[in-house]
Amino acid sequence: MSVAPPETGDSVMLELLEAVCGALLRREDELNALDREIGDGDHGSNMARAARGLRELRAGLAGKTPGTALAQAGNAIVMSSGGASGPLYGSLLMMMGRALPDDPALPDIARAFRAGVDEVARRGRSAEGDKTMLDVLVPAARALSENVGDGAPAALAAMLRAALGGLADQRSLRAARGRAAYVGERSIGHDDPGAASSAMCISVIADIVLQEQSS
Ligand code: ADP
Ligand code: MG
Repeated sequence: MSVAPPETGDSVMLELLEAVCGALLRREDELNALDREIGDGDHGSNMARAARGLRELRAGLAGKTPGTALAQAGNAIVMSSGGASGPLYGSLLMMMGRALPDDPALPDIARAFRAGVDEVARRGRSAEGDKTMLDVLVPAARALSENVGDGAPAALAAMLRAALGGLADQRSLRAARGRAAYVGERSIGHDDPGAASSAMCISVIADIVLQEQSS
């Protein structure tokens, strides 16, 4: 009789990373198309490069604590991935990984996510309302923190709602940071590509966690 190994923190982390990589690779064209409207058309390619890099790193992350795995993943993205978004997403994961204790519980994850998002704002010199990835990440991190007391399913559902709300809200804004700021008024009515990729990643993570919690 074979007995499945217990689900450990690092295997959950790797499963989520793999799912995010798969989604980013599947939606490369869609993200490039969004970036063609208000940028230079490479956001999908930049995210796909990061995803391929993470897949190569995957075996080396097995057995590491979630914090170490995330920090290494973030570092790899900073080193290898292009555009403005690569270093920002890489820094998010790096900072989040550093902030995680060895065996994190939900409040630790919420705190670490906030630390990662704060680092994006610091490095990007940007804030919610500038029509960037932060318009999704900031409300998502806030909702997760504010709802941890209600348990993982409710907190993850609140995080997902906030991310999708942030994605909808940035559409009518004028870009104030990044390449899209150069097109000024013309950015109004378009989705910021980084906001779209952030919402994608958060949706994938929330869907998996919510499915696992309900089964
Ligand atoms: P590049 O703009 O260099 O071509 P990408 O197309 O990969 O890089 O990424 C663009 C995305 O990066 C934007 O849609 C935005 O969400 C995000 N971004 C760019 N600059 C900033 C910044 N200063 N702060 C936060 N996010 C930013
Ligand atoms: Mg671009």
